[in-house]
Amino acid sequence: MNFDFSDRVGRVEPSATLAISNLASELEAQGEDVVDLSVGAPDFPTPDNITQAAKDALDAGHTSYTSSNGIPELKEAIAAKLRGNGVDAEADEVIVTPGGKQALFETFQTLVDDGDEVVLLDPAWVSYEAMVKLAGGTLSRVDLAQHDFKLEPALDELGETVSDETKLLVVNSPSNPTGGVFSDAALEGVRDLAVEHDFAVISDEIYERIVYDGFEHTSLGSLDGMEDRTITINGFSKAFSMTGWRLGYLHAPSDLIAQAGKLHSHSVSCAVNFVQHAGVEALSERTDDSVEEMRQAFEARRDMLVDLLAEHDVDVAVPKGAFYMMLPVDDDDQAWCEGAIQDAKVATVPGSAFNAPGYARISYAASEERLREAVERLAEHDYI
Ligand code: PMP
Repeated sequence: MNFDFSDRVGRVEPSATLAISNLASELEAQGEDVVDLSVGAPDFPTPDNITQAAKDALDAGHTSYTSSNGIPELKEAIAAKLRGNGVDAEADEVIVTPGGKQALFETFQTLVDDGDEVVLLDPAWVSYEAMVKLAGGTLSRVDLAQHDFKLEPALDELGETVSDETKLLVVNSPSNPTGGVFSDAALEGVRDLAVEHDFAVISDEIYERIVYDGFEHTSLGSLDGMEDRTITINGFSKAFSMTGWRLGYLHAPSDLIAQAGKLHSHSVSCAVNFVQHAGVEALSERTDDSVEEMRQAFEARRDMLVDLLAEHDVDVAVPKGAFYMMLPVDDDDQAWCEGAIQDAKVATVPGSAFNAPGYARISYAASEERLREAVERLAEHDYI
């Protein structure tokens, strides 16, 4: 039959990164050696203590549904973790989700009606736009690219963009795709605007544990005035190298949890039982050394990559967190990325996917050897 697809699904495109990963897979199938710097996943195994906790949970028979919002031990561990960030959190203000992505999806679906204004800070992670459109919202955007991806110098523009009509602002620090980390002054500026215009803020803190140069992460929800208007999103994928486990969460005031919990129970029911038990272990201090080792490896790679690029006279905005970097390329970044993969066999993601034309996103979740190889190949084929 000819399906009559919903308007909703027609509003969004498949992820723009797909074209690049398809191309990479095609080349690899032809026997080519592609340096894949397009992936958003740490290249480390999940720490052993976490894997062991999952095995133990399976052996103990933790294989049935759990209560929809999550097992009490994990909700309590998450609340305690958030309290450590200065967020006034209780276990019953947490929903445990299969990945941070589901936590974001439920939040947009819970807050955004047709025509509601949602503000994004560009470059922004690809799925925010799609999720807002699926919820029927309209997008306003503030471009941080002209400010070296910093928010503080863009606060005036943000102030001009938001109004009493604004429903929601999305803040993602450390940022995918820029690696930018917003200063406390910038977060305070966000707070002042949110309070003045009475809008809610999603704070996506999934890269919180991957910060450099001795930086200490600040949770937006810990600022005065933000406690009752912040939805904090986080997950286990990045800090603990658990992308395939699918575990994340949202924290918000209890009235929002009651509404989002309806979506949660009618969609995924709950996150995977034994994975939630592994999540409790992940949040314990027994994992701290592994997290720190990965963080240090990412920081060393960042330093190496910045230096290697400088040797080729390429100046980048030095990332302060996450494992991404924006490489300035031709205006037609899509063509640059397609060419780089065809000619140099180096896969990156076009900046346009993040509303940042003229850049390519590099993920340095790859070994130093592969990163060196990538830079050499890009230089050899005149892409840098
Ligand atoms: N937020 C950001 C900014 C991300 O980059 C990602 C993963 N790429 C997520 C949320 C979702 O991660 P997950 O669903 O694996 O927890």
